[in-house]
Amino acid sequence: MKTPLSGETLKQLVGQPATAIDTPALVVDLDALQRNLGRMAEFARKHDIRWRPHAKTHKSGAIARLQLQAGAHGVCVQKTAEAEAMVAGGIHDVYITNEVIAPAKLARVAALAHRVAAERGQLSIAVDSPEGVARLAQAMNEARAAGRGRAVIDVYVELDVGHGRCGVTPGRSAVALVHEIRKHPALRFAGLQAYHGKAQHLRTAQERREAIATVVQDVVFTRKLIEADGIAVELVTGAGTGTMVCEAASGVYGELQAGSFIFMDVDYGANERDPAQPHFEHALFVKTQVISSGLQHAVCDAGHKSHAIDSGLPRVHALDGAPELAYFNGGDEHGILRPVAGNPRVPEIGRLLWLIPGHCDPTVNLHDHLIGIRGGLRNGVVERILRVDARGALT
Ligand code: PLP
Ligand code: MN
Repeated sequence: MKTPLSGETLKQLVGQPATAIDTPALVVDLDALQRNLGRMAEFARKHDIRWRPHAKTHKSGAIARLQLQAGAHGVCVQKTAEAEAMVAGGIHDVYITNEVIAPAKLARVAALAHRVAAERGQLSIAVDSPEGVARLAQAMNEARAAGRGRAVIDVYVELDVGHGRCGVTPGRSAVALVHEIRKHPALRFAGLQAYHGKAQHLRTAQERREAIATVVQDVVFTRKLIEADGIAVELVTGAGTGTMVCEAASGVYGELQAGSFIFMDVDYGANERDPAQPHFEHALFVKTQVISSGLQHAVCDAGHKSHAIDSGLPRVHALDGAPELAYFNGGDEHGILRPVAGNPRVPEIGRLLWLIPGHCDPTVNLHDHLIGIRGGLRNGVVERILRVDARGALT
């Protein structure tokens, strides 16, 4: 039996008005998405920098293809399974911006490196330890010995530039790791990854600029040490939607990894916009409807099984300008809606609403499909159904 929201059933929505989409549903405004892509492409051109957007945001081969059509160099992913989904979706430049350690996963990484090499593509990966390098080399060598080919994987040394997550300390330990990589013919030292996740949501543009100025110093210092050993650092890669203007202006970064810009969310919307930042629009919405209405509040059918709340609650998108309803946590399946000051009306049963998720990436991972509409939220028409190919791709 088909579930009511199976891809087949959803396909029947194509050509229908957006009002016909049942709730809760994750809806993409394809016009806004396309404008965001165009603005990113223009920004990258102007700064003579390439962009390899993070596909952890959308997890969709179809959206990755739109990004490539708009001028992206390839895509970044966080997980081996995401890389597999992207390659299956026809993307042949994929960078795993993360450490992969388990031999079972590394065997898949090595197989994928050979698969994309056969299609003249390139797989890349980050490392932050000699152990990680040795394990990666072993997996690549085993794939070669098994007759898969002679593929070479691009390896970036990840620096911890303030996030306090993965990455080696900038300086000598990074140089030592570069030498480790270069011992293995199946690995190619491709450059440095310097991504500062914690800087992305510093609220003022000045705070973000200051944070990335320190990052750039760390990168330059490390790059000089590597070059002093006669080794070229071809590329410095990093940056998210919050700080990308700083990395782009640094003259040090050659590639931007920003992902969220394609959809945006409440958390990014709360950042003070740097004047140099392109204007990225909200393009991702949870469509919901009121299922209960009382004197003081109404209840809608989207709770935190419809949207992630790790970065805060969704905001009710005000179609007519001023916000008129505030969203409060109603649990897994419900959202509580209260009129904000100046709006005395509790919404009636059946009223359709559009929520902007607090955090786009984990919200997408809650859904099997994105429903793509054209022509705006009120009068738009469903154009296509986009599968979240790498939904739950955690390995
Ligand atoms: N690069 C790396 C390594 C990341 O972990 C992330 C997101 O967490 C990004 C790029 C993209 O950042 P954003 O989605 O905030 O633009
Ligand atoms: Mn995120």
